[in-house]
Amino acid sequence: MSRYWSEVVHGLTPYVPGEQPMIAGLIKLNTNECPYGPSLRVLQAIREAATEDLRLYPDPEARALKDAIAVHHGLQGEQVFVGNGSDEVLAHVFQALLKHDAPLLFPDISYSFYPVYARLYDMATRLMPLRDDFSLGVDDYLQVGRDGRVGGIIFPNPNAPTGMALALAEVQRLLTGFPDAVVVVDEAYVDFGAQSAAALIDRHPNLLVVRTLSKARALAGLRVGYALGHVDLIEALVRVKDSFNSYPLDRLAIAGGVAAMQDEAWFERTRALITASRGKLVAGLQQLGFEVLPSAANFVFARHPRHAGTELAAKLREQRILVRHFRQPERIAPFLRITVGTEAQCEALLLALADILQPASALR
Ligand SMILES: *Cc1c(COP(=O)(O)O)cnc(C)c1O
Repeated sequence: MSRYWSEVVHGLTPYVPGEQPMIAGLIKLNTNECPYGPSLRVLQAIREAATEDLRLYPDPEARALKDAIAVHHGLQGEQVFVGNGSDEVLAHVFQALLKHDAPLLFPDISYSFYPVYARLYDMATRLMPLRDDFSLGVDDYLQVGRDGRVGGIIFPNPNAPTGMALALAEVQRLLTGFPDAVVVVDEAYVDFGAQSAAALIDRHPNLLVVRTLSKARALAGLRVGYALGHVDLIEALVRVKDSFNSYPLDRLAIAGGVAAMQDEAWFERTRALITASRGKLVAGLQQLGFEVLPSAANFVFARHPRHAGTELAAKLREQRILVRHFRQPERIAPFLRITVGTEAQCEALLLALADILQPASALR
């Protein structure tokens, strides 16, 4: 605390990302990164962009990247907004499209950055409890809409940290149920098994889809995220961005991002590897007695009936395996969120858990 702080800083509770420890040999299954390196074409493109031209500012509109993203999604470049990671895109979305004089609705169990942005921009929110089975109940949202005004809706699909997907028909019910509010679908994990709402953009001017290259394109370190939506929504984001930072994406990020969007073969191969490993990981966890929520993401959310989440996370850490555990809200405290690693990493995790659950000494 300092008397030099602005009033808003006193009221902030910043987001706490999963740890990035500088310890060699760790099995890192705590932040949903890709366990495989990015496409070699990405590395090549970044090397080729690392020239004297770095003295020049990058294209403030990152047109080459927007075009590559538009091609991938079958949209127009004007329907694409890019930013320094989807976290930055989301921040602009909150300020440009979700801040109104009516509350923003989002699930009580969801990406914990949403309440942080809402606080930063001084927005009213309403937490919408997930159903008992951790599914998102669209009817609950529609009911709130009948009872009063709604400023906007945001949720991840698949949801984080549950990994559970919402069917496209359900997303569409929200879009038609709230024609006067922007509905933001945060599709950070959609490539691992959920249906994207990107195909609905031409029909729903209130839909904004947010994506990232951090997860399914293995580029968390490059910081590239984007949004897809009606040109009017994109214009709002551009206006905020141009009032904040003209060059959120540097020359290397633009070059790498373009190459990533163009390497479909790498993309298909990698997500197939991860979904296959996920299947084995889920089966292994179930064999150890875990209950695992149905995952459409590159992570699983699992609890053991006889062991607390904190205890398991701490014991795994002793064996140099990091997973994510959330103490709050209480309903998810028994769970571990485990990123799907390489097959070898998943096997090591299962062995470690077997050892924790049934110590060799107990078997003797
Ligand atoms: C990882 C994640 C993001 C952030 O992605 P970046 O592009 O790395 O900022 C956004 N939303 C959800 C739900 C995520 O899990």
